[in-house]
Amino acid sequence: MSTAIVEAVALEKRFGDHQVLHGVSLAVQRGEVVVIIGPSGSGKSTFLRCCNGLEVAEKGSLRLCGQMLMQQGELLEENALNLLRRQVGMVFQSFNLFPHLRILDNVAIGPHKILKQSRHYAETRARELLEKVGLLHKADSMPNSLSGGQKQRIAIARALALQPEVMLFDEPTSALDPELTGEVLQVMKQLAQEGMTMIIVTHEMSFAREVADRLIVMEEGRIVEQGATADIFRHPSHPRTRALLQPVL
Ligand code: ADP
Ligand code: MG
Repeated sequence: MSTAIVEAVALEKRFGDHQVLHGVSLAVQRGEVVVIIGPSGSGKSTFLRCCNGLEVAEKGSLRLCGQMLMQQGELLEENALNLLRRQVGMVFQSFNLFPHLRILDNVAIGPHKILKQSRHYAETRARELLEKVGLLHKADSMPNSLSGGQKQRIAIARALALQPEVMLFDEPTSALDPELTGEVLQVMKQLAQEGMTMIIVTHEMSFAREVADRLIVMEEGRIVEQGATADIFRHPSHPRTRALLQPVL
């Protein structure tokens, strides 16, 4: 039996006349770190959004931890979307913290409301997660007092608080000043080392080279190259891959 955490097969997605995904397949194993690269508009975000149910592909299938949740655009479980959103954590370019809640509550509210954890338990876990991302001392602060890098580390802690099976990251450092990207990438690297299953869209090629087990290259809604990160850096075969990796080769 497949041990894939996420298994997307032949996903097709269109917006009106514009087909954005042309049969994208990806199986990610437990503990695997996959980085997706590709030019703007190639469908990277749409693919991630299909993997957590923010979009529903009209063709193809999606399994989560072996359970078939979507096939040919049909959600197979009444609670498929809830399952997806609970088990697939997502971190976006924009941090989307709740501005009126202090940091501790930003992290604890999901587990309390969605997982029905007691407030006390959810707050204890939230403190552990804040410590993990190096921001326990900000527990009582409000989001607007934080730097962008700190906000993104909180967004990561908030996603982790729901105990996802896999974490998706969509250009998590693209909105940050260059001097703030390192602290976010460091937290992600630590997660990878702890065995978290991750799919990451990023332009940070040095990070990808260091952390990714597998590299996926997308162009115009298709995967045009994929393989072990070291192999692709050594022998990029598709012209698009060579263009994307050029700056770091
Ligand atoms: P990437 O993340 O690789 O930059 P996206 O997945 O965001 O690519 O977008 C792929 C294509 O789909 C783009 O041409 C974009 O304009 C289009 N697109 C994405 N989301 C929508 C939407 N909600 N409605 C219409 N077009 C969309
Ligand atoms: Mg995108």
